[in-house]
Amino acid sequence: MEYDKSNIFSKILRKEADAKIVYENEYVLCFEDIFPKSKIHILIIPKSEYLDIFDFSKNSSTDEKEAIFLAFEALIDMFKLDKKGCRIITNHGIDGRQEVPHLHFHFLGGQDMGKMINI
Ligand code: AMP
Repeated sequence: MEYDKSNIFSKILRKEADAKIVYENEYVLCFEDIFPKSKIHILIIPKSEYLDIFDFSKNSSTDEKEAIFLAFEALIDMFKLDKKGCRIITNHGIDGRQEVPHLHFHFLGGQDMGKMINI
């Protein structure tokens, strides 16, 4: 699958669409999810064009990978979640039900997130 520049996160990165940005570094942008699924719901995206976690895992640089983890750390600090915890997930493909075709991690917290298993 080719990267499609018309996706909403690509527009946010080009400043063609608005977002409530909470953190950014050289390689990563973090902003509020427009339809929050928990009290805290932040999306973490790489600034470069990666479709999903597999594309990113194969093709990103070590610095880009590290930047994602630095963003996780910054958000845990920012929202003071080091003791209470949080959930970080990424959806991938049809079974993962990824809707926006630009890699993103959901950073969820501020409450008990409940059990994750759904079988
Ligand atoms: P996913 O199903 O993993 O692809 O998640 C896509 C997420 O993007 C959903 O949680 C949406 O609520 C969120 N979303 C869609 N459009 C926007 C937007 N313009 N700004 C912020 N979040 C958005």
